[in-house]
Amino acid sequence: MEVDNTQKSADAAQVETRPRKSHPIHNNPNASLVIISEDDVELRASSFLLAKVSQFFQDLTSIPLPPEQEREPIHLEYTSEVISLFLIAAVSPPYCHQIIIKEQSADITMTASLLTMAEFTLCHDLILNIRQYLVESAEICPEEVLKLGVDRQDVELIEVALSAYGARKFEVPTLCETGYCSRRCADGFGDTCFKKFRRLHNAYTDLGEGTQIELLELMLLRMKIKAQEYGCLERMIFDKEDWEWISHLLVDPRKGVVNKI
Ligand SMILES: [Zn+2]
Repeated sequence: MEVDNTQKSADAAQVETRPRKSHPIHNNPNASLVIISEDDVELRASSFLLAKVSQFFQDLTSIPLPPEQEREPIHLEYTSEVISLFLIAAVSPPYCHQIIIKEQSADITMTASLLTMAEFTLCHDLILNIRQYLVESAEICPEEVLKLGVDRQDVELIEVALSAYGARKFEVPTLCETGYCSRRCADGFGDTCFKKFRRLHNAYTDLGEGTQIELLELMLLRMKIKAQEYGCLERMIFDKEDWEWISHLLVDPRKGVVNKI
């Protein structure tokens, strides 16, 4: 046991003494604030500039230090990539935020991490601009914005994504033949109803399981409410024939509806 412990402390000492990687851009030796990322990269930044745009950094740097003493590095649970983007965007004028995100954020996941970091550090202008950027991104990549909205329980993001998404992807196609597609029904865009159904299938598959079920329930409920409102409820009440049709297609569910029509 003793040998093991000695080995462990030797390992720990080795980890501690290993030189930390310094960030290729944020490495100004005169910058007073040292941030350590979750991937163990050291980023240096101006505490003076950050304090102007972030309540978190303002509070942090307002604590006076004894003379000749340097501020302890702060560890943040974000990747060096995200912290670097944050340091560039946060101290830029607000009208540049969205351009910087567009140019430098790899994807929606990275923009989402940037948003959580802006929220954590209380950078109000940056938060507003990242959100605006995500709202506008809903037109281009609604699936990702929807997923983010659901993860964050963010009604605004869910709403913009779903209206952009729903209009294109959740539109249930009618089938050119009763119950199946002849594959010869291409519209002006070369889309058969089978292809449209395949898109609907993919749109559902991309969502998490809980969201899939809830979305299905809400769509059915909404259809019923609308049918009731317009006085055609009988179309929404499934009769024996409807359940028979569903039963036939439900056989071997692993095959998926998309392969049965
Ligand atoms: Zn068809």
